[in-house]
Amino acid sequence: MFEYTPSPTLLAKRIILVTGAGDGIGRAAAKTFAAHGATVILLGRTTRKLETIYDEIEQAGYPQAAIYPMNLEGASPNDYEVLANTLENEFGQLDGLLHNASVLGTLTPLEHYDIKLWYQVMQVNLNAPFLLTQTCLKLFKHAPDASLIFTSSSVGRKGRAYWGAYSVSKFAIEGMMQIFADELENDSTIRVNSINPGATRTSMRATAYPGEDPMTLPPPEAIMPLYLYLMGPDSHEVNGQTLNAQD
Ligand code: NDP
Repeated sequence: MFEYTPSPTLLAKRIILVTGAGDGIGRAAAKTFAAHGATVILLGRTTRKLETIYDEIEQAGYPQAAIYPMNLEGASPNDYEVLANTLENEFGQLDGLLHNASVLGTLTPLEHYDIKLWYQVMQVNLNAPFLLTQTCLKLFKHAPDASLIFTSSSVGRKGRAYWGAYSVSKFAIEGMMQIFADELENDSTIRVNSINPGATRTSMRATAYPGEDPMTLPPPEAIMPLYLYLMGPDSHEVNGQTLNAQD
């Protein structure tokens, strides 16, 4: 596991947007960021789940969160403009963005991959992070120390049979991360990196590996040290890196 001991106020006064904040790793990240002082914007497609996290953050006495229900599959470019403008009006800047939401699609040979599903997976896993980053970039430029984190996977670094659109989308995420990092190289106030969470106890993992005992895997809370490190000021110099949460 990546080792890092954060200060309790590591993310104080930071505004951080988390996609797919309603479940799994995104849920743990949102709560962990809030526990370290951040104001977290919870973006996801199931409002009920977002409300539960919101309440948990409030009950814990962390900074009040915000909810932004949005289905990344159906969202239009204009929806991203509306989101960026809303965030600008409400908060003025963004200090962090965790691109976490994604869908698995199906595990099947490329030869037989369903075309409609291919487009759906690419829309959520690749096009949405592109549109969100592009429209929100102006908000990061208003922040003194902004961190963008893309979420990859082992199959985004080495192709593996049957992982189809999911694997291809994660390769593309690594490429997009590198391009944004290179383009922003001379902007010392924005860094862009990717995380491979590694096998983690979530519903996506259980769907991909139905025969596996989930209790043999770390829960999302256990992989948070790398997320905190990359979101906070200690990673200020780190840009364009592909990192593993469980190394
Ligand atoms: P989960 O399926 O548990 O959670 C995914 C989250 O993304 C859910 O909150 C889901 O919303 C949200 N989401 C999915 N589709 C959309 C959409 N169209 N619009 C908005 N939100 C959406 O996945 P994990 O927590 O396991 O995965 C988190 C990230 O980590 C993903 O990028 C995944 O690829 C990556 N990863 C995970 C690994 C693991 O072992 N768990 C290993 C390697 C990478 P809802 O709750 O409403 O369904």
